Amino acid sequence: MSKKPRIAVVVVAAGRGERASASGDTRPKQYRPLAGQPVVSRTIAAFLALPEVDVVLPVIHPEHAATFFGLGNTDPRILDPVMGRATRQGSVLAGLEALAAEAPDFVLIQDAARPLASPDLIRGVIAALETHHGALPVVPVTDTIKRSHDGMLVAGTEDRHTLFAAQTPQGFRFAAILAAHHKAVHEPRDFTDDAAIAEWAGLPVALTKGSTRNLKITHPEDFARAERLLRGDMDMETRVGTGFDVHPFEPGDAVWLGGVRIPHTARLKGHSDADVALHALTDALYGALGLGDIGVHFPPSDPQWRGAASEIFLADAVGKVTARGGRIVNLDLTIVCESPRIGPHVPAMKQAIGNICGIAAHRVGVKATTSEKLGFTGRSEGIVAMASASIEVPQED
Ligand code: MG
Repeated sequence: MSKKPRIAVVVVAAGRGERASASGDTRPKQYRPLAGQPVVSRTIAAFLALPEVDVVLPVIHPEHAATFFGLGNTDPRILDPVMGRATRQGSVLAGLEALAAEAPDFVLIQDAARPLASPDLIRGVIAALETHHGALPVVPVTDTIKRSHDGMLVAGTEDRHTLFAAQTPQGFRFAAILAAHHKAVHEPRDFTDDAAIAEWAGLPVALTKGSTRNLKITHPEDFARAERLLRGDMDMETRVGTGFDVHPFEPGDAVWLGGVRIPHTARLKGHSDADVALHALTDALYGALGLGDIGVHFPPSDPQWRGAASEIFLADAVGKVTARGGRIVNLDLTIVCESPRIGPHVPAMKQAIGNICGIAAHRVGVKATTSEKLGFTGRSEGIVAMASASIEVPQED
């Protein structure tokens, strides 16, 4: 082709995305933040980064329309989303049919859950379409692949030199893949990717260079791996925050400290459960982000926080770190009191704080001291907690 081909992209985001459900986050995986940006927005942005891409068409689940529009993707090259159908194949066809009005020469079909396709990888697919009807990025299979008919006994070994793992985006000449998809509607078999439809329709499909980095987010641990890869590309900065809090004792039978209930001859007085240690940690995280303190985010005048479990406050501060694309490097806590004795509860506190913050217990320091019977802590009138937090966030000007 002598003139520049018109290039469209279909981003298939119509799945319910339940497989990667991480604890707490009930959103479909394609709408969850990945290093501070929703997965599907990152996937779309990977194509908008290429000036040769003319339009990007998202195909979404009808129930996610409000969520999708809430992403605020405003680039004029993003077309109005098309509603997906019951199967991936049906959703791709819906997208291809909607693209007919755009009359693209080439179409790239991308899974929303692959946000890390590099410009080189995408351009490799586009380049192959100059000479082939279809192109897909692949990586060589490195594991030896066994065949089994019952999942118990080996029936044979494949020659792995002839095997390649297929990735996306898969690229096609538009008219050819649209015709193949139309024909495939009547096939009873389930095609797991678009290249399979092209092969079935007799279209030659070229292999292009994929990348192990171009991972598909399927399981919860894939989020962590993708975030590590993205952070490797970003300039990160370390920030530190401190927190300090005091709560007085009042009559009672237990204190909440560091997310752990400790039987005692008094309890701590406060609007929430008065977990002075979690409050100090919360302030340390807000402080590291320059976001004020706990009272700004959870005003004590608001009756809804009466008796609240303080892990709500800490989880909110952690959420603000992850929303910025950051992570907690470590937390350190010092508790000052004459009693109760803290030492026996330190392992449970490290675990509880780690769980709330989504980090390993070894990244949490918990220390306790007395004030040698001096001052209000020495007179057992209350407990002091001091905390520091170290976080890593993408650099901003
Ligand atoms: Mg407090």
